[in-house]
Amino acid sequence: MQNTPLVLFGVPFHNVTFEEAIQWTVDRVRSGKPGFIATANLDFLVLAQKDPGLRDVLREADLVIADGFPPVKLAPFYGPALKGRVTGSDITPMLAARAEKEGISIYGLGAAEGVAAKAMEVLKKRHPDLKVAGAWSPPHAPFESMDHAEILRRLAEAKPDILFTAFGAPKQDLFNHMHVNEWNIPVSIGIGGTLDFIAGAQTRAPVWAQKIHCEWLWRWGDNPKRLTKRYAANIAFLMRAIWLTILLRWLKNIPAAVDPSAPPHWAEHGVTYCEFAEMPDNLSGKIVIDLRDVELLASDEIGALLELSKRVEKVVLLHAGSKVRKLWEFSHLADRLPLAANCAEALTLVQ
Ligand code: UDP
Repeated sequence: MQNTPLVLFGVPFHNVTFEEAIQWTVDRVRSGKPGFIATANLDFLVLAQKDPGLRDVLREADLVIADGFPPVKLAPFYGPALKGRVTGSDITPMLAARAEKEGISIYGLGAAEGVAAKAMEVLKKRHPDLKVAGAWSPPHAPFESMDHAEILRRLAEAKPDILFTAFGAPKQDLFNHMHVNEWNIPVSIGIGGTLDFIAGAQTRAPVWAQKIHCEWLWRWGDNPKRLTKRYAANIAFLMRAIWLTILLRWLKNIPAAVDPSAPPHWAEHGVTYCEFAEMPDNLSGKIVIDLRDVELLASDEIGALLELSKRVEKVVLLHAGSKVRKLWEFSHLADRLPLAANCAEALTLVQ
């Protein structure tokens, strides 16, 4: 599996198929090293625009799968195409089927009272040898006032290999991210309303509606009061994203004015400087990357820079042109990859 994510509108997506995501999960369970999966759809992109905490969670997730058509459809305009949609609602029963074969245990957490237990019962009926480590639907509460200690106690007792967390976005992802380093659960995955679908508490849109990308309309019809605001924000974001895509394609790039004076002696300041095209593999410490000859960075190039920013102390990008700046502004990428207009600013930012 390719590790470098494709970064779309500031959110990294791993370019995997269902099979690859399932195999990743099995491998991760075998490794025993806790990690978490986010199932990012359009709603995540919208929420991440306003919520730096969620942006961080998504950027630190071990696997982000594209749970929706918008990222899949827009990906080719920004770099490599995504292999396809990998939905939380579809991968959950598939993971249960594979877990049965591999002797891997699962736990259902979340949804309305009794729904998680019912969903696990349904899966157990479909897969008699499936190891269900447990299920619990804690009382709904804001993230801060949820009884984290009680949930952690139950999970520590059940010791599942895969945890299906169904608190809705972003609560489930904040939860998995917050606890991933303190529990011994190899894979946790946020699955939204999937336990409701499995338990039969809610009906999923029929396959024809999913195929014509109208699953959201179906859900909206089911619960207009709750979902109108969410979908209105999603549509508005999608329009802005499409507009940005058009602008980036047709606008002329205005390169940054490059400082004519000699660049500072980077090494004296403990900084490694390189041009983007000549970036070595073994970078470490504080790094300034010069984008003077770059018109626009592709989604996989941004993915590589984002990964680099996790490995090293600090990365600052220098001399970005107008297109990169526009994309950065829209995507809030400066949180992790700040832009500097000149060498002096780069030196300040990188410290
Ligand atoms: N949920 C929960 N705890 C909460 C809020 C929501 O367990 O504090 C559950 C809710 O009952 C539902 C699930 O989270 O089963 C997903 O909700 P939503 O439909 O918003 O999910 P999404 O649209 O993200 O798939």
